[in-house]
Amino acid sequence: MNFPSPIEEKTFRGHSFYLKRDDLISSEFSGNKARKFHYFLDHNFPHITKVVSYGSAQSNAMYSLSVLAKLKGWEFDYYVEHIASYLEQNPHGNYKYALSNGMNLHVGRGIPTPTSKEDSLFIEEGGRQKEAEYGLKFLAQEILEWKMEQGIEELNIFLPSGTGTTALYLSKAFSVGVGGIPKPTVFTVPCVGDVNYLKEQFLMLEKDEKFHPKIITPSKKRHFGKLYRDSYNIWLELQADIGIEFDLLYDPHGWLTLLENPQIFEKPTLYIHQGGLIGNESMLRRYQRIYSENIKYKR
Ligand SMILES: *Cc1c(COP(=O)(O)O)cnc(C)c1O
Repeated sequence: MNFPSPIEEKTFRGHSFYLKRDDLISSEFSGNKARKFHYFLDHNFPHITKVVSYGSAQSNAMYSLSVLAKLKGWEFDYYVEHIASYLEQNPHGNYKYALSNGMNLHVGRGIPTPTSKEDSLFIEEGGRQKEAEYGLKFLAQEILEWKMEQGIEELNIFLPSGTGTTALYLSKAFSVGVGGIPKPTVFTVPCVGDVNYLKEQFLMLEKDEKFHPKIITPSKKRHFGKLYRDSYNIWLELQADIGIEFDLLYDPHGWLTLLENPQIFEKPTLYIHQGGLIGNESMLRRYQRIYSENIKYKR
């Protein structure tokens, strides 16, 4: 695995910023899911034979867990409430690759209850787990070392949130033991649910609000997984202007919100690329079906 992941300097719409390329950690196990599941990779679990989780059939976390299970020699049981018949008949994206990694899919059998079974490791939807803190401390350390080398004093960090686990533990890692040096400020925007939902997610993982990231309220409500013309456009524009493929589920909402808040760019700003590109296969198909006139980019 490619640690530390590179940091590149870019310019978009007149704003200079730095980009943390966690999408380049590894071709299989990458992005923020590699950070969140790093703990399980680094430790031995002699009694565990199986990992159990649940969520959507297109989830990035699902795919990353299938990779983890393969690397560890574990079985992988994954529960979905429903699977779209198009996806089932035309497997692609995270779903296809998770199945090829040996995932056992259970459809419509409810959410599994966390068992105390000795042989099973239960992972919450999207990897919202205490264990995620371990890998995010490494991310924080990589950023602090780079910041020192560059002689950057104050730093703003921006990343879009789902469960908020990544942003929370990153922010917390900076708050603990960075004596003297101004600590980076972590900004995030909710992509799943609203600001209150994200706050609740933070509180489930960390009661002390002084460790929480700063939540930016988006000017426009966008439903998770839905398609929006402005989301697709910004994704195409980022691709064309800086030559980087971002994720289509979180990053467009993230970028649109960041650009609405140009005050963030008044300090050196680091955007975290959280991976998720395999999931783009399914999002891109959906976008191209409705906006077929505008295919500027093909994987
Ligand atoms: C999972 C994921 C997120 C959300 O991460 P959380 O820790 O749940 O907030 C953001 N971006 C990408 C690309 C992801 O795969």
